[in-house]
Amino acid sequence: MNAQNMENVLTPRRQGLAVIAALEAKGDQDGLQTALAGALDNGLTVSEAKEALSQLYAYTGFPRSLNALGTLQKVLDQRKKAGIQDNPGKEADPLPADYDARKQGTAIQTQLTGKPFNYTFAPATDYYLKAHLFGDIFARNNLSHADREIVTVSAIAALPGCEPQLTAHVSGARNMGVTDAELRALPALLEGKVGLAEAERLRGALKTVLGDAHTPVQTVDFSVWPKGQPNTAYAQYFTGNSYLAPMEGGVANVTFEPGCRNNWHIHHKQVQVLICVAGRGWYQEWGKPAVQLLPGTIIEIPEGVKHWHGAAADSWMQHLTFHKDVQDGASNEWLEPVSDRQYNER
Ligand code: MN
Repeated sequence: MNAQNMENVLTPRRQGLAVIAALEAKGDQDGLQTALAGALDNGLTVSEAKEALSQLYAYTGFPRSLNALGTLQKVLDQRKKAGIQDNPGKEADPLPADYDARKQGTAIQTQLTGKPFNYTFAPATDYYLKAHLFGDIFARNNLSHADREIVTVSAIAALPGCEPQLTAHVSGARNMGVTDAELRALPALLEGKVGLAEAERLRGALKTVLGDAHTPVQTVDFSVWPKGQPNTAYAQYFTGNSYLAPMEGGVANVTFEPGCRNNWHIHHKQVQVLICVAGRGWYQEWGKPAVQLLPGTIIEIPEGVKHWHGAAADSWMQHLTFHKDVQDGASNEWLEPVSDRQYNER
């Protein structure tokens, strides 16, 4: 399979559904605004966008759903003013007068779950699931059941702490006709358009359901502290990939991928200050045990001391850095890399 086919496993329309669903759940209205415009440009109809964001109230709550519908309304207004004619799409067909929501919903729920599901612990919730979610909402035919599961899986991937439901809906998506290849294409899409944490949650669920290899890592939220650009200027002094985001006042935010660290080095005639702001990592001075870096950890590195800093093996890490007590002739002296043995035995 060539790269072109790999990219097209999910249709552009389904990619749009997945991304807007995850951003709805994340509550990222700015990102959603951009993603909605992109989705509409890529063939998603207004009816489908509206339906996806409406369905999600059952998974993310009315506050998220109504905010997202408000953003959709704003996007449509702006596009209309700009002369863009969005495809309204097809409304859902009316249901037959004798439609039995509970009966039909029970059948759909059984198909999705793979077996009859009766939530006897909370009978009212059992009724909501059958009659309302799978009865009323899933009966609307302006989205297919497979589309709806792409929407649900992507949204739950953006909800911290809902991993059991995410795993259940990855199974449900397969039972509703979403292919394994489509499911496997989702994490990279979410990583690029929504965030690393969302992608990592979904990779964890795919490992459980499909047995895909995946080593979980602790992520950081780049919408809080920016990832910046690949740190190419200093790459020769680093093991692994790091990223640099210049901040104001001579402060830089450095992002380390899991396992990434800089070489042993010395700051001459200046004191380096590190402020860990996200993830988990290490700071080590030559001949001393390493100190763990957690958000809020502040390290002052004395001038002339040989040391390194970097991420833990299983976590991204971000620290701010600046120099103080800078004297004339201040410089950095880069030394040998921190070997795997030194890193693992730190
Ligand atoms: Mn340093």
